[in-house]
Amino acid sequence: MTTRPYVIDEMISAKSIAARIEALSREIAQEFADTEQLVVVGLLRGSFVFIADLVRELRLPVEVDFLEVSSYGNAMESSREVRILKDLRSAIEGRDVLVVEDIVDTGHTLSHVVRLLTSRNPRKLRTIALLDKPSRREADIKADWTGFEIPDEFVVGYGIDYAQANRNLPHIGKVRFTDGG
Ligand code: 5GP
Ligand code: MG
Ligand code: MG
Repeated sequence: MTTRPYVIDEMISAKSIAARIEALSREIAQEFADTEQLVVVGLLRGSFVFIADLVRELRLPVEVDFLEVSSYGNAMESSREVRILKDLRSAIEGRDVLVVEDIVDTGHTLSHVVRLLTSRNPRKLRTIALLDKPSRREADIKADWTGFEIPDEFVVGYGIDYAQANRNLPHIGKVRFTDGG
């Protein structure tokens, strides 16, 4: 895949992310203190690094599962239509569920996923997003926990890609195009 030339400017350091996850994990552990086993649901693929770090900070019995949904549309914009590419392996009826998302942008993805999983009657369902771009919101939704609010910039790293590259960057960076376009 061809992409425009770009550089990546660091926006959130690996150290800041780790500190934030530690704080959030304590809040989540409190919220689910009485859980038998929390089903932590990562939305593929962008949340895979975040979920790995998050579950290792959570002092709770957890199960890890993944859901992959896709939005129609191009690489930089997410559309309203969402379909399931890979469903959960576990049934979540009567269980405690934490949905882990990388970025809430327009909010359509998270809103659709919450609607879908709520229809399966979990005991309690909560959501966490590493990043939130509130200025881009179209759907009326906010994650129960957010790592960082960021401005309307296209970001990569820490699991998040640009044209499938940069997921392995340890920090969050913003993409700056260098072709002046
Ligand atoms: P939403 O449905 O909230 O508009 O879209 C959320 C999804 O759009 C995110 O999970 C992510 O996959 C993608 N997305 C939104 N903003 C960015 C961004 O800045 N960089 C990348 N790589 N993906 C983004
Ligand atoms: Mg995502
Ligand atoms: Mg993507």
